Amino acid sequence: MAVAIVPTHDTTPIDIPRWSWMVLAIALLGSYLMLQENGWLTSHWMVIHEFFHDSRHALGMPCH
Ligand SMILES: [Zn+2]
Repeated sequence: MAVAIVPTHDTTPIDIPRWSWMVLAIALLGSYLMLQENGWLTSHWMVIHEFFHDSRHALGMPCH
């Protein structure tokens, strides 16, 4: 009779450095600004607004 050996999953917690959470927060904020922000934050910085707008078009995101 054959016995199947199923590998067990290692559930040892990993140590995530604190700086990686800051990098994640900055990446999420940057993604939000580039993909969703439509003038609420960047209406006074037209160069930034147009840069994000053109980036959305370059990525194929619907914006208008
Ligand atoms: Zn557009």
